[in-house]
Amino acid sequence: MIEHSDVELTKQEISPAIDVLRSGMLVQGKHVASLEKSAATLIGVKYGAVVSSGTSALHLAMLSLGLGPGCQVIIPSYVCSSPLNAVHYAGASPVFVDIDPNTYNIDAEEVRKALTDKTRAIIVPHMFGLPADIESIVSFGVPVIEDCAHSIGAKFRGRYAGVFGTLCVLSFYATKMVGAGEGGAVLSGNPDLIETVRDLRAYDKKPEYRVRYNYKMTDFQAALAESRLKRLPFFIQRRKEIAGIYNKVLSDFAKRLPLVPEEGDHAYYRYIIRVKDSDLFIEQMLERGIECKKPVFRPLHRYLNLGGYPETDLAWEQSVSLPMYPSLSNKQAYIVADETKKILDSEGGLSC
Ligand SMILES: *Cc1c(COP(=O)(O)O)cnc(C)c1O
Repeated sequence: MIEHSDVELTKQEISPAIDVLRSGMLVQGKHVASLEKSAATLIGVKYGAVVSSGTSALHLAMLSLGLGPGCQVIIPSYVCSSPLNAVHYAGASPVFVDIDPNTYNIDAEEVRKALTDKTRAIIVPHMFGLPADIESIVSFGVPVIEDCAHSIGAKFRGRYAGVFGTLCVLSFYATKMVGAGEGGAVLSGNPDLIETVRDLRAYDKKPEYRVRYNYKMTDFQAALAESRLKRLPFFIQRRKEIAGIYNKVLSDFAKRLPLVPEEGDHAYYRYIIRVKDSDLFIEQMLERGIECKKPVFRPLHRYLNLGGYPETDLAWEQSVSLPMYPSLSNKQAYIVADETKKILDSEGGLSC
């Protein structure tokens, strides 16, 4: 069985986490502090605060902007439900927009059309390792939260995703680019926003009462995240090699493969292709011992029974994610690619 996701940890990655366990200082200690510095330095942003998950990072990023009831937050429909939950935690109102079918990212023109005098933020997830059209979206003048949960290390016009918006959030969830179990971070060039995140992530020993959270990250997870972050260049290089195998074997189907726009550098957190019927394809691959998945389990507008998101609907019907992770061997990648090619050869044309 070739699994869709897998995590392989080296001894060097694990050993700093074991040292933390031996020390007994389990929560938010020196490794959290140094992870904040190394994550911010890597992306190229001045300040960072580490928290318990990507979702809590999104929540506190919104609170740092002062968002609450009456505020509209624009998000794409084609994303997991984490950003939607975070908007609701803040008491704000989500406004969904459709995606660019070529990149699967939020469509800048659709964002522009959705702006109102109540729009207070735009959450821009850089999907599957490919940066969105971030410069256009930032130019609208509304605070942008870049959601880099898929895209730590991806670049747009030579700069890391995460430096363009008002705030950037990361996730260290197990199977993300830099997985450490659970964890997240908020980064920003604005020290006041990060100060608010630091204040709100912990409730104890505060001079005055306000609603705060327990969103601290444990220090052993931070130690793991830090040692894995050091290997990010290798992770991305390996993902690009695997994408290279898929691109080569599936070159007859170029229009169905991940597009890499001129200004973007794909980090291949996921390798997404278009097929006629994603459910059927997933079944056929499973029969061949290969696990594939829908890249987004269910679009947000479908959870809420809304209509008017045709590109998201089409992506949901037609897109599948092939196995992609640094420990996937070349041999396994060729098996995945060959079996995919056989199914696509038998499928005929596509209407996209
Ligand atoms: C995983 C993910 C999140 C949430 O991160 P968690 O650490 O799982 O809370 C948010 N946005 C996107 C795009 C994600 O993929």
